[in-house]
Amino acid sequence: MQHYQMYIDGEWCDAQDGATLDSINPATGEVWATAAVAGETEVNRAVAAADRALKQGPWAEMNATARGKLLRRLGDLIGENSQHLGDIETTDSGKLATETRAQTGYVADFYYYYAGLADKVQGATLPIDKPNMHVFTKRVPIGVVAAVVPWNAQMFLTATKLGPALAAGNTVVLKASEQAPAPMFEFAKLVEQAGFPPGVVNVITGFGEPCGRLLTSHPDVARIAFTGGPDTARHIVRNSAENFAVTSLELGGKSPILVFEDADIESAINGVIAGNFGATGQSCVAGSRVFIQSSIREDFLRQLVERARQIRIGDPLDEDTQVGPLATKAQLDHISESIKDAVAQGATLLYGGKPPEGFGKGWYFTPTILDCPDQRVRTVREEMFGPVLSALSFDTEEQAIALANDSRFGLGAGIFTNNIARALRVSDAIHSGIIWINTYRVVSPIAPFGGFKQSGSGRESGIDAMNDYTRTKTVWINTSSEPMANPFVMR
Ligand code: NAD
Repeated sequence: MQHYQMYIDGEWCDAQDGATLDSINPATGEVWATAAVAGETEVNRAVAAADRALKQGPWAEMNATARGKLLRRLGDLIGENSQHLGDIETTDSGKLATETRAQTGYVADFYYYYAGLADKVQGATLPIDKPNMHVFTKRVPIGVVAAVVPWNAQMFLTATKLGPALAAGNTVVLKASEQAPAPMFEFAKLVEQAGFPPGVVNVITGFGEPCGRLLTSHPDVARIAFTGGPDTARHIVRNSAENFAVTSLELGGKSPILVFEDADIESAINGVIAGNFGATGQSCVAGSRVFIQSSIREDFLRQLVERARQIRIGDPLDEDTQVGPLATKAQLDHISESIKDAVAQGATLLYGGKPPEGFGKGWYFTPTILDCPDQRVRTVREEMFGPVLSALSFDTEEQAIALANDSRFGLGAGIFTNNIARALRVSDAIHSGIIWINTYRVVSPIAPFGGFKQSGSGRESGIDAMNDYTRTKTVWINTSSEPMANPFVMR
């Protein structure tokens, strides 16, 4: 059986107490790998290594252009190994290989983007309001970054943190998800191969308690980059009260997709399918509340059900598969329960609602479409993180906007219409960090990504993210040829 060790201070190691966890292949329900679990000793070692690398040695002395070259090399290695990395991620998380391979290939571009930005971070000379003073600012690294990621897109969610963090000169302790840590240890091999000095990137895994807590409350951690659920985020914020680390939160969502009667129906169907059944619905930006204008509602739902019926469920490593298993049994139980509650609350099950036949112990679930009477239904209010679509209808644009905004989340939103003025009006009115018009679930290293409301704070990707991994240092220089003024004489 495959065993993964942690990567700390440039060395591969097991936990001092020998603790390990089993990683389960969701397609079979069987253990396929074990991984060393970090306890207090390993968390402290990893943070100490990152702190040392930040303050002394080759990384501390390296200029920004050289850091950019290392990131470019890392991007090259990820691109060259995208098939292998994708397959490991698929085996560990159940996510489709067609997605993980392509996404990992694209992840290389995120490292290239930040490689290019590394030596473009600049300070300013200030037009200061004092005589004989030259004042300038520098953007400097924040310090040791604790990067905590969930299981659903680890290569991608790591790139959006490590790209800017390393380009800006920080060092990192990455905590891989305990649900599917393998791809992160494979990634660590490439970090080593790329030639990053020891301690710059450390990769550990462990459970939220104690590993995640110890890491995010560690006194030498200065920046926390968290992606995960809102409940965990509350712990993260409390943990950061211990070290006052600058914290970014990328959380969940309940993103609306609005389909107006003038929309291109084929696009809208593809958008809704991508938004709900892509990644088996286990996507933070899942467009899991679909609002359809009443005049096209019946026909749209009929077409949607027809498309759902044609989806090929199967082995996530098989290139023909369109929906694979859920990543965890808990996830499967959660959506099963939620669908039962939704039906009890008056929702009509149009398709799916249960695991498909013939998949043994794998955690498979049939793509599900619920026709919901109102927003109070459980599947409409709560994040499902599975292939569960809740459909509702609206009559007017105002109603559509009010329904879309009636959520504690605000991550993404989709608008399908051929009326450009309407598209812009509605996109202005919707409280979400990302709006997709006549498309859905597209991302880029160039485009900031992040949510409003309880979907989080801070932005990943784009130039904004680079700034979020630096802080400003202000330098005052007295240019007078006279001695510094007597502080007790006011002028
Ligand atoms: P989760 O919140 O359970 O876990 C995320 C990470 O936090 C894991 O590594 C976990 O070990 C760690 N953790 C748990 N408790 C902790 C604690 N007390 N202190 C520190 N770390 C702790 O999330 P999950 O179930 O793995 O992932 C699903 C969630 O992630 C969904 O809500 C989804 O929407 C969200 N997500 C958001 C984005 C985004 O960019 N907005 C992207 C992907 C996933």
